[in-house]
Amino acid sequence: MADSFEYAVIGLGALGSATAWQLARRGAQVLGLERFALGHERGASHDSSRILRHSYHTPDYVKLTFEAYDDWATLEQDTSESFVTVTGGLDLFPPGCVIPPDDYTSSLAAWSLPYAMLDTAAVAARWPQFNLPDGAQALYQERTGIVPAARGTAAMQRQAVAGGAVLRDESAVTAVRDLGSGGLEVDAGGQTYKVRRLVVTADAWSNDVLRHLGYEIPLTVTQEQVTYFTPERPQDFAAEKFPVWIWMDDPSFYGFPTYGEPTVKAAQDCGGPAVTGDDRSFEPDADRRKLLADFMVATFPGSGPATRSKTCLYTLTPDRDFVLGAVPGHENVVVGLGAAHGFKFAPTFGRLLADLASTGEATTEVDLHQFRLDRPALTDPDHPVSWLL
Ligand SMILES: Cc1cc2nc3c(=O)[nH]c(=O)nc-3n(C[C@H](O)[C@H](O)[C@H](O)COP(=O)(O)OP(=O)(O)OC[C@H]3O[C@@H](n4cnc5c(N)ncnc54)[C@H](O)[C@@H]3O)c2cc1C
Repeated sequence: MADSFEYAVIGLGALGSATAWQLARRGAQVLGLERFALGHERGASHDSSRILRHSYHTPDYVKLTFEAYDDWATLEQDTSESFVTVTGGLDLFPPGCVIPPDDYTSSLAAWSLPYAMLDTAAVAARWPQFNLPDGAQALYQERTGIVPAARGTAAMQRQAVAGGAVLRDESAVTAVRDLGSGGLEVDAGGQTYKVRRLVVTADAWSNDVLRHLGYEIPLTVTQEQVTYFTPERPQDFAAEKFPVWIWMDDPSFYGFPTYGEPTVKAAQDCGGPAVTGDDRSFEPDADRRKLLADFMVATFPGSGPATRSKTCLYTLTPDRDFVLGAVPGHENVVVGLGAAHGFKFAPTFGRLLADLASTGEATTEVDLHQFRLDRPALTDPDHPVSWLL
């Protein structure tokens, strides 16, 4: 006998946990299926911190960040916990950088968001921890901050369960059958479930799930790593004194103030090799760690030695835009994928995926057509690949 639910969510990282929470808080009957243990470290939603920011390269992404701040606030209200730490943020544009500041400034200006452009001397005056090259420009946005990765994901799982969701871990989905008006059947963990609608939030493993429906998205999975540095004077890197920062060039780096421990975390964006969710290693790469450490010594001379590194997975679309929409030919299946910048939007993904799964329409001021599965970047094999943001 098949267990029946209105909705099943496949994959309980940040996006799937958020969807289960958002569906459960509407009183829907929801089943969440996770292949590994909840909170595992094989995907993209583990570890301590993720950047939350308004600063983005298009007006639409900036617009969506307003919803991200609001949806994190809803999670804070629902849980009576605090998740958002506002630190301020600096987007750093060295001379000749490949990421143009104008896209960022015009996108912030489109929504009248305050920002300041600072030169090297102004940055050094306010944050003496920075040693920027002459001629660098820095975009300061005061509302940039940090959200907790593993803790935020676990909180959404707890809220989902409190709202009545059934979350089954160690339950890999091994088959999906679309029965048309008869709903869908999902095989997982030795059981068959009957559901009316399906949400796929399997990130690096999205295509393994979608292939059961004869569908595939062009995704590249890379193995990335974050490194923790131990400053001699951690107090100089505390959130009250040191902002979140992003180096807007190729290679692109980003980093955080101290957060829960006397270390500063930094990483390269999109520097790792292509892997799959199953064949990747968990071994940090020494050459990439050195590249980052050399950058840190030059740019933040007090940040101290690299003391540990951890790996994680990026799942990238060719245009680095999100995937958010129904599977063509299977309107009862919706997909959410954060293209390796989605954690800040996790509660928003959850709300929008819950909308799309339940009514086919999402409540948002942003045009979601740009994230559809049938957009050119996901259907044209010759679409250019561009991952820097
Ligand atoms: C190092 C790093 C730094 C990042 N920094 C930022 C940042 O600063 N700001 C930001 O906004 N974003 C950031 N991101 C991106 C963000 O973390 C991800 O976009 C987001 O966490 C993805 O969540 P997810 O739930 O889609 O994926 P995951 O957390 O990988 O979850 C997918 C889940 O699906 C499960 N699954 C797969 N197949 C099956 C199956 N067949 N059956 C059942 N379950 C299945 C997997 O086990 C997994 O748990 C970063 C990512 C990384 C790796």
